[in-house]
Amino acid sequence: MLKRSGFKKGGTFRTLKSTTGLLGASGAKIKAHSPKPKRTKNKLPHKGYKVPDWFRSIPLGSHGNSPTQKRYWKVISAFTRQRDFNKYHGKCVSCGKRLESWQDGQGAHYRRYATCNSYFKFHPDNVALSCAYCNQNEDGVIGHSFGEELKRRYGEKHLDWIEKENNKWRGVKLEDHIMVGHVEKLLEDNPWFVLP
Ligand SMILES: [Zn+2]
Repeated sequence: MLKRSGFKKGGTFRTLKSTTGLLGASGAKIKAHSPKPKRTKNKLPHKGYKVPDWFRSIPLGSHGNSPTQKRYWKVISAFTRQRDFNKYHGKCVSCGKRLESWQDGQGAHYRRYATCNSYFKFHPDNVALSCAYCNQNEDGVIGHSFGEELKRRYGEKHLDWIEKENNKWRGVKLEDHIMVGHVEKLLEDNPWFVLP
């Protein structure tokens, strides 16, 4: 297995990295660019997978190409906003303005959603709590501040890590059972997290 460069030193982030390391329903890590499964009798073991009712009761978010993806985004947005609101005193990642509550902020992508690959579109370490103004005005100054703050929070190599990690997920198809499994793992590992 590839050594993941994203597992960085430091307090709760170690836990966070491992909990958000894109885990399958079984808890097994998914390899980016894994070879195509052999066409034997188990060629589609998750065919007919039914998204559980608790997941289908999550409201639809603003990103995604299917109801499960939209719900997955709703979860990741709430997760990153709750995480950052508590850890960084409610401050917008880009301008530092204090928000009244996590619901007042938005889950902003550093690398834009549209240019992220597969599961990396939903990676919590490419998303941070932002005020609406900064999230909707992606000029160079705001983007630069966003990046500088991510480096301060995660370490100097974090922006390189985002690029490398994103590249690993090119061409990987999003699957419902994996997205649901990831949310189960987030809930299990982060008892403070309240589902939207
Ligand atoms: Zn801001």
